[in-house]
Amino acid sequence: MASETTPLPHEAGAAAGDAASSAPARVARSGPFSLRSPAGGAPLDGVAETELSALATIVASARAAQIAWAEVPIRERAELIARVKNRLLARAEEIATLVHRECGKPIEEAALAEVLPNADLIDYWTRSIEELLDDSPVALDPLAYPGKVGRIQRDPRGVVALITPWNYPVAIPLRTIVPALLAGNAVVFKPSEVTPRSGALVTSLFDGLLPDGVLAVAQGGSDVGAALVGAGVDLVVFTGSVATGKKIAVACAERLIPTSLELGGKDSAIVLGDCDLERAARGVLWGAFTNAGQNCAAIERVYVEQAIADRFIARVIALTGQLRAGIDVGVMTTARQAEIVRHQLEAAVEGGAEILAGGAPEEGSLAFPPTVLKVEREDTPLLLEETFGPVLPIIVVKDAEEAIARTNASRFALTTSLWTRGYERAHALARRLRSGVVTINNHGFTGALPAAPWTGAGDSGYGVTSSPHALAELTRPRFLLEDRSRAKSELWWYPYTPALRTVAFAMARARGGARWFGRVSALVELVAALARRLLGR
Ligand code: NAD
Repeated sequence: MASETTPLPHEAGAAAGDAASSAPARVARSGPFSLRSPAGGAPLDGVAETELSALATIVASARAAQIAWAEVPIRERAELIARVKNRLLARAEEIATLVHRECGKPIEEAALAEVLPNADLIDYWTRSIEELLDDSPVALDPLAYPGKVGRIQRDPRGVVALITPWNYPVAIPLRTIVPALLAGNAVVFKPSEVTPRSGALVTSLFDGLLPDGVLAVAQGGSDVGAALVGAGVDLVVFTGSVATGKKIAVACAERLIPTSLELGGKDSAIVLGDCDLERAARGVLWGAFTNAGQNCAAIERVYVEQAIADRFIARVIALTGQLRAGIDVGVMTTARQAEIVRHQLEAAVEGGAEILAGGAPEEGSLAFPPTVLKVEREDTPLLLEETFGPVLPIIVVKDAEEAIARTNASRFALTTSLWTRGYERAHALARRLRSGVVTINNHGFTGALPAAPWTGAGDSGYGVTSSPHALAELTRPRFLLEDRSRAKSELWWYPYTPALRTVAFAMARARGGARWFGRVSALVELVAALARRLLGR
């Protein structure tokens, strides 16, 4: 929480964070929020920080609102949320500009990654939600279960706490907010303290469409996030670092609350000898440097097959030289992250890596140039830890086998790309990768596809974003059984009798517990025992 806070008159009531404006708020002067843009240092507006003590009230209001919201017919919920799409598109420039100012990414990148895919997201969920939430029948054997019909219903979890990072401050929250609300949940959203204004903008897209309390924003840093997890919510959806993810997993375990964790990555691109070299070089370049490499699915390792290595590396270096600082590749968002990247780079060079393009900028600078290096030893933080910066290490390997083994050796397993024209072989290789997403001749962009699950393994977390698999996390299944049998009793009800015992063991033999002759005699025994049982014996 801020140590010094004073309300500023022009921000009172209109400050970012208004969706929770019923809660006591203060304007941070030296709190967790940055007041300078990483893109040029221009001042950023103050932000109202949510009091820790207000979180219980915010969650209680969300809970009350959720009960009524879940009763709104699904079609009506979908019609309301569908209206967010045009609001979003009408504010495209404003959104892209704000994200550029808060994160430093180029405006084109902000428009392409943070605005346009969200239109598809809203279309997908609002058009499919009715069908996805529809009851699904469960087939029951009419002989074993006469008169019974089963179905699975999906219930909202209740109040969802959504805690997000700064690297895609509009797209990542919307990927959960939209399906969570459509499923009948309330959402309390805590944006990153690095991008609180983008977070407030996200919630403002829903202004006037939802009953009060159904979508609230809590602004602040790690203490606000931790307090939100403990404020009585029903599910925590978290995207962020491994370290924070582990803390949240523990806090949720203590409260027996389910959690969805989307964490870091160390994606590799596997470039095989039969690839389209020009496409592979261009694709790898974009996959490594988009968002200045501050992407969970950034390419942070390239394993290139020996046969093509020299030509591939030469092309990547040439293309890197054409990238324009601040136009194609933006600045890094935080000084802390830039220092992590610098240290990893320095350690790799000390370990023998050769810088082929770029290199660390002067200390304190956020303008980290796109950097390419050739690495031989993998026991360096640059290849073991997440980098989250514009650095592309290239490792020459003997063949695809070695590339797969090295890719799978990482504790991260988010996405991997295979660059090859041998599609059949690529499908077989894909099956052997641990990653939650594998792309052939492309990288990373599938996070923008609302119908495609985005997920990982190991330190990349176990959450799922997008697709019906994500909806399964945002809802609880309820099994509903209806019994229209006219019988006064079931076979397995009291009393337990010798005939029932015979039925049980004859069934076991008849269903596979004996050879064919034993099965036939078990069937005869079963019929006789069932008859005795029907007579109440
Ligand atoms: P972070 O873990 O520092 O912060 C993420 C969020 O958690 C912020 O809102 C922060 O305030 C909050 N937080 C911090 N401590 C908390 C606590 N103890 N309890 C509750 N909330 C807490 O991560 P970051 O630096 O904002 O984001 C970068 C990380 O996010 C990278 O590791 C990146 O790979 C990951 N990421 C993953 C995905 C994915 O889909 N897998 C997508 C984007 C980013």
